[in-house]
Amino acid sequence: TIVTEKSKISSVNSKDRPFPLEWTRNIGIAAHIDAGKTTTSERILFYSGSVHKMGEVHEGTAVTDWMEQERERGITITAAAISCAWNASWGPWKGIKQRINIIDTPGHVDFTAEVERSLRVLDGAIAVFCAVAGVQPQSETVWRQANKYRVPRVAFINKMDRTGANFFRAIDEMREKLKANAHPLFIPIGAEENFTGLIDLVQNVAYIFEDTTDMLGLTPVTREIPESHRAQAKEYREKLIEAVSDFDDVIAEKYLSGEEITVPELMLAVRKATISLQFTGVIPGSAFKRKGVQRLLDCVVNYLPSPIDVPPMQGQDSDGASVEAVVDDKAKLAGLAFKLWNDPFVGRLVFYRVYTGVLNKGMSLYNPRTRRSERVSRLVLMRAMDREEIDTAYSGDICALVGVKEVITGDTLCDEDYDIRLEPPSFPEPVIAMS
Ligand code: GDP
Repeated sequence: TIVTEKSKISSVNSKDRPFPLEWTRNIGIAAHIDAGKTTTSERILFYSGSVHKMGEVHEGTAVTDWMEQERERGITITAAAISCAWNASWGPWKGIKQRINIIDTPGHVDFTAEVERSLRVLDGAIAVFCAVAGVQPQSETVWRQANKYRVPRVAFINKMDRTGANFFRAIDEMREKLKANAHPLFIPIGAEENFTGLIDLVQNVAYIFEDTTDMLGLTPVTREIPESHRAQAKEYREKLIEAVSDFDDVIAEKYLSGEEITVPELMLAVRKATISLQFTGVIPGSAFKRKGVQRLLDCVVNYLPSPIDVPPMQGQDSDGASVEAVVDDKAKLAGLAFKLWNDPFVGRLVFYRVYTGVLNKGMSLYNPRTRRSERVSRLVLMRAMDREEIDTAYSGDICALVGVKEVITGDTLCDEDYDIRLEPPSFPEPVIAMS
């Protein structure tokens, strides 16, 4: 991976894995009601593979068909966790299908405990804001909780097509109200009905929406930055470099000596600053049409952490001593049941995140709370359009368990000879530096 050293990766990946750990992103989507969380989630699932089954239909109808089908089959995009796949259009993982697990994060103020519980299982999040309404009071609560649980974020300023949309005002509000060190990763070309493209400040290229004929956006059309926006793009790229140079010595040195900073260097610096919670990159877009959601998915892959890039989950053994559940396929199994769910097809499911070790179908899992073991009869990977039965879930994976009954949300389930309780530490709110 990008952040972790190579030696560490090869030691934690078992050779039976279908793909290495660093190709996984466990993320949540947080938003104030009405900011567009549902629509953005739908588009993410649509772009990340669900549409393949639809054949070559025009996008406008395909989305509707897909949603019709979703209703008919009783599939809900707000299931506790859904796995999808995304090929980033650029960056170190270009052309490699990443598994993105989207974990539902309830967005209501009243359910703070539930929000906090789901934040524990995330490695990163997309914070969706409305380009018209900006940062609303409820967003402040969720933002503070995400700080508390140290969840790295990228921000999506949605509804750029709406009258009154203002990308830069929304960023100012993020800085003022959330004290976020927020900087654009992209700037919009136009706004409202004239929102016609995006300029990627890291890659220094433009995406013009009208030119994108590929409905999946797998081969996005990049263009030279239009003359009209060159000066603005240069200015904001400089600002971005300056912002991340505070956290990256390579960038800082080059910046001070006026040397050219390459795309991979800047990408890596943004990734590191994001993962260390020092920085939030902001992306303008609209969940309507195909205006930015694919680029947002690129950002999830390029800037948000894999399970290996975040600090290990903490726990306690039966003697009350602290233990760390380090991501490692060869270690004993420990994971967290984070949601119970009734699926119309499979029945009662327990959503589970493996923190350390490997979970195989048929294994008996020990629950330190009940002091009893239960056998997992089946393991299921939930997707938007179907469910896949799997035999094994590896460290960092999220899956649904069938057959375990005496479980409540927040229970640790572990190897029968490994009596630990996972207990995410409650961090003090980090002081996020403003540059
Ligand atoms: P949620 O409450 O955050 O889940 O928000 P929804 O996804 O339900 O969206 C709230 C409303 O905003 C709905 O009427 C959507 O159709 C609309 N909406 C969502 N995204 C966009 C967008 O990008 N542009 C415009 N114009 N409307 C949007």
